[in-house]
Amino acid sequence: MNDDNLRETREALADATTRFAKSEIAPHATAWDEAGEFPRALYRRAGELGFLGIGYPEDLGGTPAPLALKLPLWVALARHGTSGGVLASLFSHNIGLPPVIAHGSPQLQREVVPPVLRGEQISALAITEPGGGSDVAQLRTSARREGDHYIVDGEKTFITSGMRADWLTVAVRTDPASRGAGGISMLLVPGDAPGIRRTRLAKMGWHSSDTAQLHFDGVRVPARNLLGSEGSGFRIIMGNFNGERFGLAAAALGYAQACLDEALDWARQRKTFGAALLEHQVLRHKLVDMQMRISSTEAWLEAVAAQGDALHAQGRDNAPEWVAQVCLLKNHATQTMQFCADAAVQILGGMGYMRGTVSERIYREVKVMMIGGGAEEIMKELAARQLGW
Ligand SMILES: Cc1cc2nc3c(=O)[nH]c(=O)nc-3n(C[C@H](O)[C@H](O)[C@H](O)COP(=O)(O)OP(=O)(O)OC[C@H]3O[C@@H](n4cnc5c(N)ncnc54)[C@H](O)[C@@H]3O)c2cc1C
Repeated sequence: MNDDNLRETREALADATTRFAKSEIAPHATAWDEAGEFPRALYRRAGELGFLGIGYPEDLGGTPAPLALKLPLWVALARHGTSGGVLASLFSHNIGLPPVIAHGSPQLQREVVPPVLRGEQISALAITEPGGGSDVAQLRTSARREGDHYIVDGEKTFITSGMRADWLTVAVRTDPASRGAGGISMLLVPGDAPGIRRTRLAKMGWHSSDTAQLHFDGVRVPARNLLGSEGSGFRIIMGNFNGERFGLAAAALGYAQACLDEALDWARQRKTFGAALLEHQVLRHKLVDMQMRISSTEAWLEAVAAQGDALHAQGRDNAPEWVAQVCLLKNHATQTMQFCADAAVQILGGMGYMRGTVSERIYREVKVMMIGGGAEEIMKELAARQLGW
């Protein structure tokens, strides 16, 4: 794709995404948050319109796309959909499916991927355990081989789409004698397998996303559902994190923009002491500070997308210099979101504290962006290591 084609495709995709987000997500975001869920039909709608398949192979029902195309999609969905809860669950396949695409057998891919991209089934990723999330190498959920099955026992927690998922991409320990990263594998567990128990978790934000604790009690999984080889799980998990972190950074930009959109609108209309808020210099500067952070995040995202696409073309996915940039960018983007959500609530005054405003919802969604997919401190450690410090 040449530069002109890429620009045109980006604009068309951003327009289509914006229309979908404005008409089919934003008007319902508050009600779905209050209800604690969104209709399952939204998956089918997003599938029909092709949004679920962006970035996936054509022969599995997707539309291949470089990061430069995924970026405007994620930003527009976040900015105009204004609901982290909806997006987290609607797109949980973006963390659940990549290990299946990269390491599942062709037969498994044909069985699992197309129905998920059509929105008929839901995919989730289950790594975090009650004993810890950051220190992935210490996970304890076990998968013991018995003939042509694995028997899975253990617990996962904070799992997005955990209540509804039809497919769970689960990190397990296949070598019971191992400690640390060595004995970890990835297994695709069918959601209807006997022995899985799901418990819904209550949260600060993302109310419309179903987050669950999962209990595996002697769950039998066909051995052909192993993704990659036994013991290769840690590497798969780390590779998968990079795409998730880039996506979180892009979404954080969209949410920051949504806060600025609402705050600017309010500052133009709301009058105090005989003038619109926007005419008071202190508030105008607050809006400028938001825009400054948004602009730097936007430029950095574009640069990291271009770098990632160039490395992919050279067969150097997940090169250390790119991984370091993604870690730094995730922190910068989520700090931008935090700053903008805080400033927007302040500019809206009492209204910013009321349920139903975009800024109030996004304010409650900040912390999960700074913790999920690798917490801020972990991003700093990983960036330092990749930079050779
Ligand atoms: C709403 C929500 C949805 C989620 N969805 C999923 C999902 O779909 N799948 C999934 O597998 N997980 C999911 N997670 C889990 C998420 O990835 C973890 O919460 C995250 O990785 C942090 O793990 P933890 O909560 O166990 O914190 P811990 O690992 O216990 O860490 C606690 C705090 O200590 C800090 N910390 C830890 N170690 C160090 C250190 N060495 N130096 C300095 N600071 C340190 C951390 O940064 C963190 O701030 C979700 C979480 C939330 C809140």
